[in-house]
Amino acid sequence: MNNILSYTPEELKELVRALGEPAYRAEQIFTQLHKGITLGEMTNVGKQTKQKISAAVDCSLPTVRKKLVSRLDGTVKYLFELSDSNCIESVVMKYEHGYTICISSQVGCRMGCKFCASTLAGRVRDLEAGEMLGQIIGAQRDLGIRISNVVMMGIGEPLDNYDNVIKFLKLVNLEGGVNIGYRHISLSTCGVVPKIYELAKLDLPITLSISLHAPDDETRSAIMPVNNSWGVSDLLDACREYYKTTGRRMSFEYTLISGKNDSPESAAHLASVLNAKLRSRTETMPIHVNLIPVNEVTESGFQSSGREAVRKFAAELEKRGIRATIRRTLGSDINASCGQLRRESADARE
Ligand code: SAH
Repeated sequence: MNNILSYTPEELKELVRALGEPAYRAEQIFTQLHKGITLGEMTNVGKQTKQKISAAVDCSLPTVRKKLVSRLDGTVKYLFELSDSNCIESVVMKYEHGYTICISSQVGCRMGCKFCASTLAGRVRDLEAGEMLGQIIGAQRDLGIRISNVVMMGIGEPLDNYDNVIKFLKLVNLEGGVNIGYRHISLSTCGVVPKIYELAKLDLPITLSISLHAPDDETRSAIMPVNNSWGVSDLLDACREYYKTTGRRMSFEYTLISGKNDSPESAAHLASVLNAKLRSRTETMPIHVNLIPVNEVTESGFQSSGREAVRKFAAELEKRGIRATIRRTLGSDINASCGQLRRESADARE
């Protein structure tokens, strides 16, 4: 643990006490940090105390290395630089109900999904809880806004950095901190099955989003190596358990790739698998499928499905009782999909 934003109020108290400072300071510092006031800027903390704390822990917020603002819809994409000079991406989107931020959970990713830009160079390291929080605090500070929703859909696989992600969820929810309710948080996973069971046990009312992308093992394994460890059937069993424990609606992401997983037959297959695994006569689990025409990443060679294919796919699902929406594209003029900016900047440095 290195970044001061990773500390819980109790841990901060311990730290402050260990440095020979009165414990009440911790509360003052915690509240201000989470409002976006850096330690250096605090007027009610003495110079010596500041020096002691910043010698012991990293007190920085991620710095804005690049910022792109969409002219179409105001979406803001950040390339944030961390204190070890690694870069991550976050995207702030404006909806009618407020601002949503999409944050990263790791520097890079090791899950290897074939269509995804974030995983091309593997995983560099996990993010600390405070570095996830720092993206929200940094964006709020930079834009002068309050963010009300968080989606963990940026760079990285959140369930591959489980402990830090759980700590982040608890920190972001604290009343004296950023204070975003669990119901306003979505966590997206490619399907690390044992961690879905662990998460279910915690019974946090967050929304779990599953990146499914294919209804059968053959197709899914070809585009998502994680499927070789836990197949579609195991994954949907875990989803069912998650729903049983938390009662939360489940959301499935389905990226449409031309000629791979976008036929009406695939849609019918998807509906029948979801219905068979997740719904019975006694259970009517609310399922929602989010269709995303694949964002074409140069290296992958995959092509996006045409409008008509997407519409047909959605209709096939609806016909079989599965709610489907087609993801609205925000920030298309700034390449707002994750992984691409970090990749560009890495290429520029090479
Ligand atoms: N690792 C997590 C979260 C990060 S990816 C996960 O897999 O869910 C967030 C979402 O974007 C996932 O559904 C992922 O499959 C999808 N995605 C990644 N690259 C994409 C691309 N090129 N086009 C469309 N969606 C993509």
